[in-house]
Parts: sequence; structure tokens; C-alpha cells
Amino acid sequence: MLDRRSFYINGAWVSPAMARDHEVINPSTGEPCAVISFGDQADTDASVAAARNALSSWGQSSVAERIELLEAFFGIYKERSEEMAEAISLEMGAPVSLAKTAQVGVGAGHIKAFIRVLKEFEFEHQLSSHAPTTEIIYEPAGVAALITPWNWPMNQVTLKVAPALGSGCTVVLKPSEIAPLSSMLLAEMIDAAGFPAGVFNLVNGDGAGVGSQLTGHPGVDMVSFTGSTRAGIAITKNAADTVKRVALELGGKGANIVFADADEKAVTRGVRGCFINSGQSCNAPTRMLVERSAYEQAVETAAAVADQTAVDLSSNEGRHIGPVASEAQFDKIQRLIKTGIDEGARLIAGGLGRPEGHERGYFVRPTVFADVTPDMSIAREEIFGPVLSILSFDSEEEAIEIANDTAYGLTNYVQTQDLERARRVAKQLRSGMVEMNGQLLPAGSPFGGYGHSGNGREGGQWGLEEFLEVKAISGWRPAED
Ligand code: NAD
Repeated sequence: MLDRRSFYINGAWVSPAMARDHEVINPSTGEPCAVISFGDQADTDASVAAARNALSSWGQSSVAERIELLEAFFGIYKERSEEMAEAISLEMGAPVSLAKTAQVGVGAGHIKAFIRVLKEFEFEHQLSSHAPTTEIIYEPAGVAALITPWNWPMNQVTLKVAPALGSGCTVVLKPSEIAPLSSMLLAEMIDAAGFPAGVFNLVNGDGAGVGSQLTGHPGVDMVSFTGSTRAGIAITKNAADTVKRVALELGGKGANIVFADADEKAVTRGVRGCFINSGQSCNAPTRMLVERSAYEQAVETAAAVADQTAVDLSSNEGRHIGPVASEAQFDKIQRLIKTGIDEGARLIAGGLGRPEGHERGYFVRPTVFADVTPDMSIAREEIFGPVLSILSFDSEEEAIEIANDTAYGLTNYVQTQDLERARRVAKQLRSGMVEMNGQLLPAGSPFGGYGHSGNGREGGQWGLEEFLEVKAISGWRPAED
């Protein structure tokens, strides 16, 4: 079993102030694969103090210097990508092929995109041609606490670490206690890249411990959080007493509107999009809304795609889906499948229990419900497993109404070959992102949601600005008479 009990504080790996062991579980087996330690208030304080001490010089460093270090880090991230893929696969169960390509790849895409943004971003400019004497300056927001979930670990960590360090902030990262190994490897990479001591710190812990200590800490200026809406609300309240800036990336319940004239692969693509990463994506298209005339065919196709979706160990190469990340996640998904059946949805693929051949580990059967109505729990709650709900609609207006009938608003999807209609619908969807006809949003796009999906935007210049304060200075240039 791996021993990863230490924390990375002030440029060195240090022992925890108090022994508080926590086992990391391999979701393919349900057995422990590593032991970490949960931090104590003293560890949190030490990490925040290190970040504060480092802030004055790092915050004053040149953008060119920061880009150079990020480029060195990017080189190491690419060199050690196999190791990173193995860590992610082990800790949260992504099949190793998916871990190598998408899980690690998306992190590389974000680091590269932020380096480009940093090269282009104007950290100083005049207010406008109408107010030429006033200067606008962007400065680092200060010490940032970064709190991340387990489902796409390097996606979320790089979306925070790269812009935070690039902006001149210093950071304390608290990764998910379910998936801490990839972040500890990332800390090794940051160390090897040569960032000054204290600029990046990592302390492990859970939400009630290190998570809450960081979000209420007077030495922390801002919190960037990705995770559940429940935790996002708790963090916002805890951060209020010290008036921190809080950027939230929370859950989702994406609608995928499939019109009768959608391309022939739309339904298959939608089912696969829902199941990828065992359904554990905040932006998953989990509600498929199908136009009545194409409905029965879509139901048949979706059931066939689910039946063909292989489930297997994360350590095996291939295009199968792996287990879900934890026992708690497994139990929640089972409960919601049971609720779907009890509330009268038509189960057309999968269902309760483990798939054949998997008596242990947190494996879930790829599941599809048809005849789901908007009021059912499986149409409203984020399930976070390979479970698709199919609903029908009769008109464009009804499709938009059902899609928007949710507390969330992260990513919605539109499938139609009528581009005018696609654009019209996309504009009316209440979500931070809309993906049309299978075209993915590229790295560097703003990622974030409306409503209970959060208030932040990560990626691109928007993701950088989250870590910047804006200062306006008058009299910067002499006034012309
Ligand atoms: P979670 O909220 O349980 O935990 C996320 C992180 O927050 C963990 O590091 C955890 O230790 C910490 N945490 C929990 N409670 C806390 C508290 N009170 N104070 C401080 N920290 C706390 O979420 P999870 O189960 O790890 O992740 C799944 C959730 O994340 C899903 O809801 C998913 O939709 C969401 N998510 C959102 C995005 C996005 O960008 N919008 C991306 C990925 C995942």
C-alpha cells in the first residue's frame, strides 16, 4: 500500500502535526490502495502562513517569470503523464485508457491554454480612450484556497492551479480525500519545476476539517471551489465572516434536446456522453429530451447502446466504463435507480445491483429510463452515475421549458440539423454552456454555470480574472488641457 501521509508546505514534504490516517480506496476492488493523513488546524495554519509569506515576492514577480515556471511545469506534466494516468485510475476508477487520454489530456489542455492567455492578457491598460489619464491594473487576489472534487481530478486542479499561479496568487490546495494521489503527484511536479517555496502548498483533509479551516481562515483571501452544491453553500456561508471572494463550480443536470431532424448519431452520442467516466461528470447530458416523432426509435437505440456498454476493472485497457468512485456514490446511485422504478419510469436497460461478473468494487449497470416526466426525482436530482433519463416533447417551446425546469444550469445540448433553430434554442437555455451537434467546447472557453451550478467561470481569460483584483488609478497620465 502506498504511504502518502506527508503534506507539501513551504517547498518541502513535511509530516502532519498529528497522525490522522485515512485510507484511499481502490474503487475496482473496494480495498485500500494508499494511506494519507488528514491535516489538523496546525497544518492548515502552517500552509496558509507559508502562502502569505510567499505572496509579497510572488505577487510582484513578472508575468514572464511566472510563464517560464508554468512552462517548466507543463513539460514535466507531459513527461510524467503515464504516472499521472495511473494515479487517477487507481484513486477514482477511470479506466486507464480514459485516464491516459481524457483525464490527463484535459489537464494538459488547460495548462497550455492558460500559458497562452497569460501571454496575451493585458495586466495594465488605460480605462478607455475617453478617460486616458486613468489606468486599470490587475493584481493577484492574494492567498487562494483551492478545493477540488474527485471526478476529473486533473481537470479541476489545473483549472485552478495554472491561473492562480499565473496571476501571482499563492495557493493552498486541498484535493478530494477520495482522490488525493494525483494532486500529490502534481505537487511533486510543481516542486521539480522550481516554483519558490510557499507559492504552492498542499494539505490533505476532508470538508469538515481542513476544508472548513481553509474557507474560514483569516489568512485566506479567496476560495475557488469545485464540488457539490451542498458544499458550495456551506463554504459560502463559512467564508462570509471574513468577506472572501468565493468562486463556485457546482453540480449539473444537463438537458440534451434531440429534435427529429438530428443527425443519425445524436442519440448514440448522447448516451455515451452520459456514461463516460461512469456518468461522473458535472456537465453530463443526463436528461435526454426527444421530439415525439423520433421518441420510440431513440428509446430503442439508447437501450441498445447501454446494453453494449462494457463495464470492467479500471486497470484494464479498453473503452469500457469503470466503477464509480466510492461506496457512498454507489449507494446513492442505487437509491436513485430504485426511486426511478418506484416513481413509475420505464426501465429499458440496466437497473439495480452490480453488472454480471463484478461481485466486488463499486460497479454500476449502465442504466436507461424511458417515459421519465419532469417531476420525477431522476429528472431533477444529480445522480452522478451511468444513468440516463429519457423524456419526450412536442414543440420547441416545450423542450426549452423542460430543459430550463431545473435548479442547475451548467451545460445543455442541442441536436438538430436546422442551424437557425439550434441557435434560437441555445440562446434561450439558462446555462453557462451549450454544446450543439456534438461539437465540444475547446480548452480556453469559459466553464461555469447559472443557478445552483455556481457563480464562477474557469478557463480562458475568465478563469484568470477570477484570481485577479482590479485597481483603478486616476492621474496616471497628465491631463491634457
Ligand atoms: P463534495 O462537495 O462532496 O466535495 C468536493 C470537495 O469539497 C472535496 O475536496 C471535499 O473534501 C470538500 N468539501 C466538502 N464539504 C466541504 C465543506 N463544508 N467545506 C469545505 N470543503 C468541503 O463533492 P464531490 O462528491 O467530491 O464531487 C462531486 C460534485 O462535484 C458533483 O456535484 C459534481 O457535479 C460537482 N462538480 C462540479 C464541476 C463544475 O465545474 N461545475 C466539476 C466537477 C464536479
